[in-house]
Amino acid sequence: MTMTDLKQTIRQKAEHYFDYMVQVRRHLHKNPEVSFKEYDTTEYILHELKKMGIDTETPLETGCIGVIDGGKPGTAIALRADIDALAMDEEGEAKKKFMSERPGAAHCCGHDAHTANLLGTAKILKELEPEIPGKVVLVFQPAEEKLPGGGRMVRESGVLQKHGVEEIYGLHMNPAYAPGQIAVKPGPFMACTVEFEIEVIGKGGHAATPHLTVDPIVLSSQIITQFQSIISRSLDPTEPAIITVGKIEAGSAFNVISAKAEMIGTVRAFSMETARFIKSRMEAILKSVTEGAGGSYKFEFNEGYPAVVNNEQCNQKLEQAAIRVLGEENVINLKKPLMAGEDFSFYQEEFPGAFFFLGSGSDEADSKWSWHHPRYNIDERAFLTGSALMAGLVLDR
Ligand SMILES: [Zn+2]
Ligand SMILES: [Zn+2]
Repeated sequence: MTMTDLKQTIRQKAEHYFDYMVQVRRHLHKNPEVSFKEYDTTEYILHELKKMGIDTETPLETGCIGVIDGGKPGTAIALRADIDALAMDEEGEAKKKFMSERPGAAHCCGHDAHTANLLGTAKILKELEPEIPGKVVLVFQPAEEKLPGGGRMVRESGVLQKHGVEEIYGLHMNPAYAPGQIAVKPGPFMACTVEFEIEVIGKGGHAATPHLTVDPIVLSSQIITQFQSIISRSLDPTEPAIITVGKIEAGSAFNVISAKAEMIGTVRAFSMETARFIKSRMEAILKSVTEGAGGSYKFEFNEGYPAVVNNEQCNQKLEQAAIRVLGEENVINLKKPLMAGEDFSFYQEEFPGAFFFLGSGSDEADSKWSWHHPRYNIDERAFLTGSALMAGLVLDR
C-alpha cells in the first residue's frame, strides 16, 4: 500500500468505526468505576477484544492487554489507554443521555474516551493485520488516578517486557484544543508529582499569654512564606517548579493558641532530582523555623509520578505519522510543558515513548471544561483523529 492509500484507508476505517467508539464511550461513561475497582470495565473490554479475535491477557486484578501480531518482522509497539474513573459526582446537560449511573464515580478525566479510542484503534489494526510491521500490544491500564499508579504496576508485571515492547505511545484528551487537532512536544511534557504532609508542633496555651506558648500558626505562616523563596531564590530560574500548600488546619477558638498545625500540599517539577532538592530545602526551613522558636515538626514527602519526558525519536515518529495522517495544519507543537502529572511516565522510565494531547474541546459539545471538573466532557469527534493517528503510528513504518 502506498502512503496515500494507507492514509485514506486508515481515515475511512476510523470513520467506519466512529459510531462504535461513541457507543463504547457512552456505555463506559454511564458505568464508571474508580481506580483499582475497574472490574466491569475490564470484563467489557475483554469481551470486545475477544469479539475482534484479539488475544488477551490479564496481568493484574483489573485492566488487561490485547496483542495483535501480523507475523511480519518489525517493531513491537505498545499503545496505552487508562480506564479508571474519578471518585466524584458529575454534572452537565450535554451528557445527560449517558450520565454516570453510579453515585460517587464519574469519568471526568476522559479515560472512558481513551478506552473507546483504543478499542476503535484495535478494530482498525485488526483489519489491517497483514500490513502490520511487527506486533501491537494494546494496554488497557487501571488506576491512573491513584498511587502507586496502574502504569507502574503494568510495567512491573513484566507483561510488556515479555512481548518485547520497544516503543510506547499514549494520549490524553485535552479540552484546550479542538477535535481534529493534536499537540506534541519532545522532551519534558508533564511534571513529576509529590505529595507532602507537615505537622508543626508548638505549645498550646491562652491567647493572652503568648510568651508561655509556642504558636504553631505563626510558625506555619513563616514556613509557608519561606517555602515560596525556595522557588525564587534556591532554584535555577530557568527550571520550572511549584510548591503549593493546598490545605492548612490549626486552632479551635478565638482565644486559644493551638498546640499544632497541619499542612498538606504538592510539589511539581520536571525531574525527581529537582523535587528532592526542594525537599531538602523545605526540611531545612522546617527545622530552623520550628527549632528556633522552641517547637518541632514532622515531615512526610511522598514521591508520586515521575515526569513525562518524551523520547526525541519517538516524538519525531509521532509527529511524522500525525502530519501524514492528519495533515500538518492539525499538529500543534507545544512550546511549554504542563505542570499536571500522568503515570504514563512509569513506562517511559523503561521504554522509549511519547505522550500527546488529543483535542476534545468545543462549544457544541460543551467540552471546554477542565479535567476533573464535574461538567468535564469531550467532543466525540476526537475519536476520528485519535484512532486514525494511533493506527497510523503502527502502520507508518
Ligand atoms: Zn485525571
Ligand atoms: Zn487523566
